[in-house]
Amino acid sequence: MSDLREIYQEVILDHYRKPRNFSALDAATQEARGHNPLCGDRISVYLVVDDGIVKDVAFQGAGCAISTASASLMTEAVKGKSVGEVRALFHRFHEMMTSGEDEESEIGEIDLGKLEAFSGVRQIPIRVKCATLAWHTLKAALEENGDRAAAVSTE
Ligand code: ZN
Repeated sequence: MSDLREIYQEVILDHYRKPRNFSALDAATQEARGHNPLCGDRISVYLVVDDGIVKDVAFQGAGCAISTASASLMTEAVKGKSVGEVRALFHRFHEMMTSGEDEESEIGEIDLGKLEAFSGVRQIPIRVKCATLAWHTLKAALEENGDRAAAVSTE
């Protein structure tokens, strides 16, 4: 168990130090901003959605290690997926971070891959919103109707 925890910590630290897809996207079809007032994390998520597929995704912002690493891993996890698959992954991740009881639902069978690194964060309630901020912002961007940038606050 301690080995697994070390691997998880390495994944989170690696993505915090070298965030993937950390940029604005000029070609974005959708975007949203998120704010976690409890910690001060701020993030913008940019999406290129074409024909129901997330063709490209990027983020910018400033926040703690957990929020930055979560956003970075999220961009890797959703790129190339259909909007439906991304929504299912959001629910799966959200369930892991909140209840942890998802084994019996269909969604519980979705493989989280590296996102499992955040399972330990559930034990630290004040950090859960840091880990889920990027995902709430992504969801807002998906639902954005095109004439304004959506904004979410986790408070
Ligand atoms: Zn934070």
